[in-house]
Amino acid sequence: MSQVPSITLNNGLEMPQLGFGVWQVPDDEAEKAVATAIESGYRSIDTAAIYENEAGTGRAIAASGVARDELFVTTKLWNGDQGHDAALRAFDASLDRLGLDYVDLYLIHWPVPAADRYVDTYKALEKILAEGRAKSIGVSNFLPEHLERLLGETSVVPVLNQIELHPQLQQSESRALHAKHGIATEAWSPLGQGKGLLDVPTVVAVAQKHGRTPAQAVLRWHLQLGNVVIPKSVTPSRIAENLDVFGFELDADDLAAFAALDEGKRLGPNPAEFNVGA
Ligand code: NDP
Repeated sequence: MSQVPSITLNNGLEMPQLGFGVWQVPDDEAEKAVATAIESGYRSIDTAAIYENEAGTGRAIAASGVARDELFVTTKLWNGDQGHDAALRAFDASLDRLGLDYVDLYLIHWPVPAADRYVDTYKALEKILAEGRAKSIGVSNFLPEHLERLLGETSVVPVLNQIELHPQLQQSESRALHAKHGIATEAWSPLGQGKGLLDVPTVVAVAQKHGRTPAQAVLRWHLQLGNVVIPKSVTPSRIAENLDVFGFELDADDLAAFAALDEGKRLGPNPAEFNVGA
């Protein structure tokens, strides 16, 4: 069924390199989309407390009939729940909504530099990890400066940093820092949110050359770079299409053409300034 390769995280655990994201999907619709995704062969699901669809995600997981240890479930701590004790409470609430007794990965959603609580918050995640209620812990949207500070002031190296990353925002500085510390890079909005990126002539041309869709060419680029990807779709044909990216390979010319697309274009907020909800 699923041909998705795994990457080995820095704690020795395996994570599928391609998973399914559910941002902006209402709870009931998320239940349907996650059910379709699992049925199609996805084994990794990325949700977050702020998405308000942990419950629907959990219902789909429960109904899937797939053994819990064959699934990789990620959720994230929202900004307003940062701080040691608040984070512990928020984690309990997420587990409860998911209907699970552990998650595979728990992430701090944003660093929220203005609140200056991410170090304390991460220490709560270390506690959750020690209790076995999260098998792995990590961060999201951490800029190099946030990551360096975290590495200096805490004990457990995050398994990954989930950041905005697509051909128009290639994040070479973060990727190099992650590689140096054995931290995996996970790309959010890997398809550039399905908007302009998929119409860029280079992307269309590379896709046509391989008889694939632009989305498949972009996902293939991520995989060959070593990124973990979590494309989102509520459309069953696209859910299947985004998983069908293991039967072809981009060549050196294609990769060079993609490399030239980097323009530092953020679709989401700059983490240095994003303090919403705190
Ligand atoms: P994506 O880059 O995954 O793009 C999703 C959009 O592209 C949807 O509108 C979807 O449409 C469309 N799409 C999907 N597949 C195709 C395809 N094959 N062809 C054409 N269009 C397609 O954007 P997201 O922002 O959703 O990012 C993915 C995931 O990353 C999120 O769901 C979330 O889990 C995570 N994320 C994390 C963030 C963080 O701060 N940590 C921030 C943002 C996202 P449709 O659904 O209508 O089919």
